[in-house]
Amino acid sequence: MSETPDSTAPRYEDDIYEEAANWHVNTGEEKIHAKRVTGKWRKIKWITHSIWLILFIGPYIRWNGRQAVLFDIPNRQFHIFDITILPQDVWMLALVLLFFAMLLAAVTSIAGRVYCGFFCFQTAWTDVFTWLEEKIEGPPAKRRKLEEGPWNSEKARKLGLKWFIWFLISVLTGISFVAWFTDAYQLWHDLLTGQASTTAYGVIALFTAGTMVLAGKLREQACFWLCPYARIQGVMYDKETILPTYDFNRGEPRGRLKKGKVPEGQGDCIDCKQCVAVCPTGIDIRMGQQEGCITCSLCIDACDAVMEKIGKPKGLIRYASLDEMEGKHQLPLWKRPRPLIYITILTLALGGIFYGITHLGTIELKVLHERAPLYVQLSDGSIQNKYRIKILNKTDKDFHVKMSAEGIAGMELKGAEKPLFARKGSDSSYTLYIKAPADAIKAERTPIIFKAVGIEDPTQQATYESMFFAPR
Ligand code: SF4
Ligand code: SF4
Repeated sequence: MSETPDSTAPRYEDDIYEEAANWHVNTGEEKIHAKRVTGKWRKIKWITHSIWLILFIGPYIRWNGRQAVLFDIPNRQFHIFDITILPQDVWMLALVLLFFAMLLAAVTSIAGRVYCGFFCFQTAWTDVFTWLEEKIEGPPAKRRKLEEGPWNSEKARKLGLKWFIWFLISVLTGISFVAWFTDAYQLWHDLLTGQASTTAYGVIALFTAGTMVLAGKLREQACFWLCPYARIQGVMYDKETILPTYDFNRGEPRGRLKKGKVPEGQGDCIDCKQCVAVCPTGIDIRMGQQEGCITCSLCIDACDAVMEKIGKPKGLIRYASLDEMEGKHQLPLWKRPRPLIYITILTLALGGIFYGITHLGTIELKVLHERAPLYVQLSDGSIQNKYRIKILNKTDKDFHVKMSAEGIAGMELKGAEKPLFARKGSDSSYTLYIKAPADAIKAERTPIIFKAVGIEDPTQQATYESMFFAPR
């Protein structure tokens, strides 16, 4: 006999519809004024954000009388301490980009949007801007009141001061960005004397406006609407990815404290909404994982503080995977194909970068054998081959090199009797000849090693293997 459905029991669809009705994503209609919270993750966030200080300090570090890191676009050279990267080495740049893309993918598949919450420049600048906002306008309630209230002298003074300080930070951001592409001290001199290039002024203006709009005005909306990474992060997750997660089993049914205690039969969530109040993107993590979560972990700090106050164990909101929440066994990292693939690719890219850096000399030698004719026989019976030599000087100083070649007994290198000049940051080409006695040549093709050694600095060396051709 079939059972008669209980018409008073809540149906699955009802739950779904209720959840949908309560579901809320702030799509820009309201400005988020998040409460600032203290705690472990807040401290970590400041530390990771401070990595961006390098943007402001980096260009002023000198190395061997030059800017330590300089992206010299006009001369098509990148200087990183002792290393100079020329367009010929651009494959290394591709590997660096691949490395960072795979690092981002690997970290996302392991621990979600860690980059967004802790390292992203948008999050970092917004954090600094909202910190200043709180210092000037006060806590969230006061800020909302000021925002909704009529214009008066206090509102004008506070908003004026806030935007002025934001403007100064934004200008400094623009100048600091440009300083990586030109001599930083010279740039300041040119800016202060009004002699900087139109490009410099244009880029600084662009960055100033961009910083003010993104960090001051758009804030978390930039993450929602503009960031492509926010759109694709979902494909990098799996059920083992750990994310800030509300422990539904422990927290529900939620309810308010009664007489300072959690009533019998109630979950540990006391519905204080502190996790929502501190969220910079204004979401309620208790509704489950959401697109707007930048995994900043501030809701963990907020909830831990609440749990401490009510004498419950911390971790009602914590880093956990979907599998952990469902009581399943968490797979070890080495059994998870997705992060493993990302880690393999990034390791290969890292290997390539390491190879590139350790094999990047200050001098590069290329030898092209002239093919028409392959060889000539001279009147004394000896055989002569012609070569086009290219010496690439990767330094920012001119120097001279001594050329030599070996491979055949008694051979003679002609055209390099005097040191050859190598122009800084470019190729210098020369035509050289090798003349070898006929009786010393044992084969139709004989390998020849060309070697260039710096005169001013003999540690500058490069070799190239070419061929010597002779009749059968
Ligand atoms: S902070 Fe913790 S206790 Fe308060 S509403 Fe959020 S999850 Fe519940
Ligand atoms: S839900 Fe928590 S982790 Fe996610 S953005 Fe909000 S505060 Fe940060």
